[in-house]
Amino acid sequence: MLIVMKKGATDQSVQRVVDTAEKRGYTARPIPGGDRVSIGILYNKGSVDAGHFMGLEGVKEVIAVTKPYKLVSREFQNENTVVTVGNVKFGDGSMPVISGPCAIESEEQALAIAKVVKKAGAVMFRGGAFKPRTSPYDFQGLGKKGLEILAKVRDEIGLPVATEVMDIENFDLVEEYADVVQIGTRNMQNFSLLKRAGRSTRPVILKRGMSAMLQEWLMAAEYIMEEGNNQVILCERGVRTFVRHSRNTLDLSVVPAVKKESHLPIIIDPSHAAGVRDQVIPLACASVAVGSDGLMIEVHHRPEEAMSDGAQSLYPEQFEKLMKMVNKIHAITGGEIF
Ligand code: PEP
Ligand code: MN
Repeated sequence: MLIVMKKGATDQSVQRVVDTAEKRGYTARPIPGGDRVSIGILYNKGSVDAGHFMGLEGVKEVIAVTKPYKLVSREFQNENTVVTVGNVKFGDGSMPVISGPCAIESEEQALAIAKVVKKAGAVMFRGGAFKPRTSPYDFQGLGKKGLEILAKVRDEIGLPVATEVMDIENFDLVEEYADVVQIGTRNMQNFSLLKRAGRSTRPVILKRGMSAMLQEWLMAAEYIMEEGNNQVILCERGVRTFVRHSRNTLDLSVVPAVKKESHLPIIIDPSHAAGVRDQVIPLACASVAVGSDGLMIEVHHRPEEAMSDGAQSLYPEQFEKLMKMVNKIHAITGGEIF
């Protein structure tokens, strides 16, 4: 249930609603909105009687929530959530592009790539220090050393950094270095990791599980928000289908579906969807056109020598070309598809 307060309702009247709910054994969560506050009722088993709240001072309306997810849903919060990282905003109609290699391999590699992606217009650097690899024999990332290199990129190049956190064990460490923590596709339903992310002060990029339905993905985001972190960016990165011409199938239709159901920003990673470089540029352009709130693109200065995902990493010149196209398409839509 959602209790919508009148414009200008006082803090005391909001508190009275919260107290009334809590007296009845419910959890009440005030959600500040653009010009009015709403109060979500959580953990109710069965329906809640609207009559308990209707007559209270400052209450405008009481809405029954029909979705299984609450905090992530548009029913709870109509305005788009804008996730802010320094000067970078996701969900405000701008087109932030996160770019960098799949994995941090060395200081020389990270700095070289960060320089070129920044020059081309990327506003955030990415790179894995802890890599979830299908084979235990493949490069697993540089760990703490990789995080230290990311910190150096931030200091020397001046870009905020996003990197994956694979487990609770390393969460404190990753969050100390990262401006944004990423939860990868393989961990989308690692519920203890999601809860830990919900207690983080860092924004979270939550990638879609490779076989996850929209509802499961939004429920995963609900875990993070339920612990108190509302700075969540959803990231579509392709889902597993029967096709062989790409690594995964980019699900562009999930963008309007997410926008309808949720106020959270959604970005697209066409690199992990495609798996091959020649599909990344067209898919990235389509992502902008469909209304994505940003992009994540893998770039490597020497992709043939990359220790992971070289085949899908763009050459710097390709990334420059892509950024020009992204800007043109975004100028046409004005970031106002929804
Ligand atoms: C990544 O972004 O480096 C990554 C491993 O992505 P995903 O979790 O989408 O496979
Ligand atoms: Mn990768």
